[in-house]
This record gives sequence, structure tokens and C-alpha cells, in this order.
Amino acid sequence: MIRRLNNTPLNTYLKIFCFITITLVVVLSLVINLTMSSIPPYETNLGPQNGRLDISKDAVADTDLFCLQGEWSYYKNVYFTPETFDDSLLVGDATANLPYSTITQAKGTATYKLDLKFENKDDLLLYIPYLRGGLDVFLNGKPLVPIRTLNPIIGIGSALFEVSHYDEKLEYQQLVISTNKNPEATAFYKRDILLASAEGINTFIFSTSINQFMFFAMLLVITFNGFVFMFLYPSHKIMTSITIFDALLMVFITTTLPVVFEFFANLNPHFEVYDSTRVTIKMLLLLTSGVLGIYLSKELFDPDFKVNKRIWHDGCMLIFVALAILFLCDMSIYDKYGTELILLGLLVSSIGVLKRFKAYYDQYGMTGYFVFQSIKTTYLCLLIFLDIMMSNLIIYNSLSIYNFFLIFIALHLVIRVYDNYINYKEVAKLNTDFEDIVAERTQSLSEANAALQKSNDTLNEISIKDALTKINNRLYFERKVEELLGKFNPKKDRFYLCIFDLDFFKIVNDTYGHESGDRALIGVATIGTEILPKNSIFSRIGGEEFAVIFMDMDDASVLAVTEKLRARLEVEKNKVIYATTGSFGLSKLVEGMDAKNWFVSADKALYRAKNGGRNKIMSDFSAD
Ligand code: GH3
Ligand code: MG
Ligand code: MG
Repeated sequence: MIRRLNNTPLNTYLKIFCFITITLVVVLSLVINLTMSSIPPYETNLGPQNGRLDISKDAVADTDLFCLQGEWSYYKNVYFTPETFDDSLLVGDATANLPYSTITQAKGTATYKLDLKFENKDDLLLYIPYLRGGLDVFLNGKPLVPIRTLNPIIGIGSALFEVSHYDEKLEYQQLVISTNKNPEATAFYKRDILLASAEGINTFIFSTSINQFMFFAMLLVITFNGFVFMFLYPSHKIMTSITIFDALLMVFITTTLPVVFEFFANLNPHFEVYDSTRVTIKMLLLLTSGVLGIYLSKELFDPDFKVNKRIWHDGCMLIFVALAILFLCDMSIYDKYGTELILLGLLVSSIGVLKRFKAYYDQYGMTGYFVFQSIKTTYLCLLIFLDIMMSNLIIYNSLSIYNFFLIFIALHLVIRVYDNYINYKEVAKLNTDFEDIVAERTQSLSEANAALQKSNDTLNEISIKDALTKINNRLYFERKVEELLGKFNPKKDRFYLCIFDLDFFKIVNDTYGHESGDRALIGVATIGTEILPKNSIFSRIGGEEFAVIFMDMDDASVLAVTEKLRARLEVEKNKVIYATTGSFGLSKLVEGMDAKNWFVSADKALYRAKNGGRNKIMSDFSAD
């Protein structure tokens, strides 16, 4: 049976669920964003200069939260301790070969330095987000003291240091961070290292984390919503592809949310995800969703392949597959050209999608569906584009960017639910129509079947019934005889054949007319049916000739019932003017007899009855 889902409780729950989630998310976004607008701006807008970062006096006066996004100098395999710290080594190119004598411990696999100009502030803290493992921080060659994380729930994976050892005499304060992390796995200079007051950092951690969690929650809702519809209609390939596409995008965007990784790190202390792993996951997801996106754009806008297939379908696929292979063969390519390569893929597929928009537009014009789908596709492309650009520029930690993305995702959530709903309604309608058609067909089919059955029954009846007397005919009788012979067990079964023929019937016809003869025949059939046992088989096998098979009876009872019939015909003859008596021949089936022998034997007995004066019973099993 086809499922009717229009009014299933699941659908109702789903609508309620989506409605409540959207409302909650929108209200929460409003509240949080309004609260956060009271937080002072923290971005310095100061560009890096040869591993130096100047925080001007004006900036210091305005704010107490600085993002140290300067160009950090990077030294591989060098670990500085206060004893070996020699700032004359820390000049020039970041990759300069340093004398190995300076390597005092193997612990430091990557060291970063930033010369920092800022005004002394007593209560400043240094915040390094999500970097677990060994970490030593020095200011002007002296180690900074790590302090507990301000917020106990969020930001556990992050490190916090008290900024002491400020040297008034130095123009630039030397900030050195040494970590035992794999340097390739930790693009340190890309991180949002903050210099701020305790209050500023706490607010920052709280607001970004909440924002990211909400982000994540919305992505989960979008995916959940899609999956529910997908499971309701697993055969709807567009809905399924959109859902998988969304799920891929969700994980894709999630990889940019450090808080999610931090959350897992809090659950399991051994959980660790390197930046390179995140980039790997991200790129693979982007490639997969790219291929799926191309497929989707074809399904949505160009199902008839109006757009040149080879270039815009196969071509796009090819580029994505090539990028994937390139990526798997040499991941470092993405370090250098990752953004450019992915942008190339995005560009090619965007042109492909635009071509499909046009193909659709040329064919159907500006339909509501077209407007809706094209807006959706455009903003998704834009979202991916922004994400690619921003994760490299790493302004992701900036609240305004998060808010921007949050709005994007909220919009996507609404559209997604709406889109699912439209698809769902369409499928539900198709289902209903289909169901109606099937019901109609089933109805007419069963009517035809019934008619056929009826005519079959009629034909069957005609073939085995005698038209005049309405009892079974010769054909039926012969079939039954064969059947009985087939299952005859001489040790157990006793079958008797009785053939009887009406006496001087020709005279009846001649004297009272053919119609009276017919009535006499019907009368005999009626009497036979009345007198003969229910399990006997009674048929008219010829003109005025009838036959009976008796089963499960003995010689005496067969003779008795036959005699009853004979006597009854005699009584009838005395009552009804055209009625007549009958002569009976009985034969008992014995081993070795076939149908012919059996009939011949009964016929012989009948012949004897006729010859013996008629209105008599003769048999082959008793002394007559
Ligand atoms: P006997 O006692 O020797 O059997 O004499 P009989 O007259 O019954 O024998 P016969 O075989 O000569 O005649 C049978 C008659 O039965 C001939 C035929 O007209 C008549 N008959 C056969 N079928 C029908 C029928 O369906 N209706 C009528 N009215 N008569 C029939
Ligand atoms: Mg006859
Ligand atoms: Mg006769």
C-alpha cells in the first residue's frame, strides 16, 4: 500500500519542531547580538611590518582588546629558554638557518616571534586560542606565567598568560611563543592571539563561543530537518541530494568553528585535531559537495541537458576530480595554492550553474520556483566563497563576521525548511494522485475480474449441467467416474454404478407429445435428487437414460435405495398420466475394471432388466 503522509503526526511534529527551532534561534540571535553590541571593538586595523606590530596610543586609549594578527616570525626546530635567548639571532628572514648550538631542547619544534609596540597596562592578559600541548611564552626573554582559564566551560583548550616583564626601555617588546606542536599543523600566525584585559577576554570567549555553538546548532537543525524529509521519501532523488549536500556543507562550515573541536577536546582529553587535518577535511568536503552541487544544478535547472553536456557537466566534474587527486597526492599544494585551486573549481561550477539558470529561464521564463532556487544557489555559492576567503584571511574569529555568517545560516535554515516543505508537498500530491489512479485501476480491474469469473462460472455450469433437467450431464459423470477409478482402493472402497432407462418412453412422446416427455424427464430428475443419498453422483447420461454412482454403501443398501427409486417412479406413473417406470442395471466396481468394463457390466444388467419385463432392478453382485 502506498503511504499517505499528508496527515501523519510525524509531519505535524516536524512542522512544530522547525517552527520552534527557527523562533528560538532568531530570538536567541537577537538577544545575544544585542548584548554583544555593548562589547567594545577590538580589532586594531594595524598591519604587520616585518614581524612587528604597532599598537598606537590612540588605539590603546580606545580599546582594551587587541588581536595580534601580525606577521609572526617563524623559526623551525628552535627552542628558546631564558638562558639561551639571544635576540641577535632573531632577525632577518623567518626561515633563516640558525646555528644548531642554540637548540637546547627538542621540545620546541616551532617558535614564533612578534615585536610588539604597546603601552604598558598592568592587567593585560595574553590569550592563545585552542592550542593544546606544550607551550612556552616569553616576553623580553622572560617566561610568562600561565593562569587558569577564565571561563571554566568554554575555552579550556586555550591558553592564558599574565603579561609581566614589560620593559619601558625597549621600543618593541619581544613576544616569543615556543610550542612542541608540529609546525605544519599549527599555522600560528593565523591564530587570533589576543592581548586584553581579563574582562575583555572573558567576554570575547563567551560571545564567540556562544555564537559558534548557535551556528553549530542551526547547522544541525538544517541537516536534521533534511534527513527527516529524506527518510520520509527516500526515492526523491533531489531531496536526498539536497540533504546530503547540506550535510556536507554543515560539516564543511563546522570545520571552521574551533569551539566545536574544543568541545570535543573537553569531552576527551586525547582528542586533538590539527589545523592541517581541519583543512584536509574541509577541502575534501568542498570537493565532494562541488560534485554534488553540479549534479543538483543539472537536476534542478537542466534535467533535459539543454546545456552542452560535455563542457559544463563532465568538465566541472573533471575539474573537481582532478583537484581531489591533486589534493590526495600532494596536500602541501593546498598550503600554497589551496584557495586559488578551490576558487577555480568554484568559478567553473558557478559558470556552469549560471548556464543552467539561463537554460531554465529560456524554457520556462521567470517562475517563482526559478527565483527561489536561483537565490538559494547564489547565496550558497557566496557562502562557500566567503568561507574559503575568510578561513585563509582568518578574520573568522571576528564577531562581526560570525554574526554575518549567522544571519546567512539562519536564512538558509528558513529556506531549507521551506524548500523541504515544497518538495514534500509536491511528492505528497504525486503520491495522492498516484494512489487515486491505482485505486481507480484496481476498482475497474476487480470489476472486470468479477465479470470474467461470472462468465467462467456460467460456462463451467453449461459444460457440466444438463440443460433440461438441471442435474449433471454425461461429461460430468464420465469425469467423475475417471476420478473415482483413479483413487479406487479395492480393499477399502465400494463403488456402485447404476444405469436406468425409462420404459416405453417413445410411447409417452408419441401419445402425449414431446413436451410431456420433457416434463416426465424433469420429474425423474427431481425424484432422483430427492431420494438418492447426498454423496451419490446422479446424472442424465442420454435421452431418457440416467446414471448414479453410490459410494460408501454396501450391496444391500444400494439395492434398497435403488428399489426405493424404482418404486417411487412406479407410484408416479400411477398418478401422472405421462409418467413412466424405469429399468435399472447395477454394477459393483471390482479390481481390474476400467470405466468401459464398468459401464458394459451395468448396461448388461439393465438389458436383463428390460428383457425381464421392465420396471425391474438387475445387478452383477446379487442373485436376482
Ligand atoms: P424401452 O423401454 O425399450 O427403452 O423403450 P423406449 O421407447 O424408451 O426406447 P427407445 O430408445 O426406442 O425410445 C427412446 C425415446 O426417448 C426416443 C426419443 O424420442 C425419446 N427421447 C430421447 N430424448 C428425449 C428428450 O429429451 N425429450 C423427449 N420428450 N423425448 C426424448
Ligand atoms: Mg433408451
Ligand atoms: Mg427407454
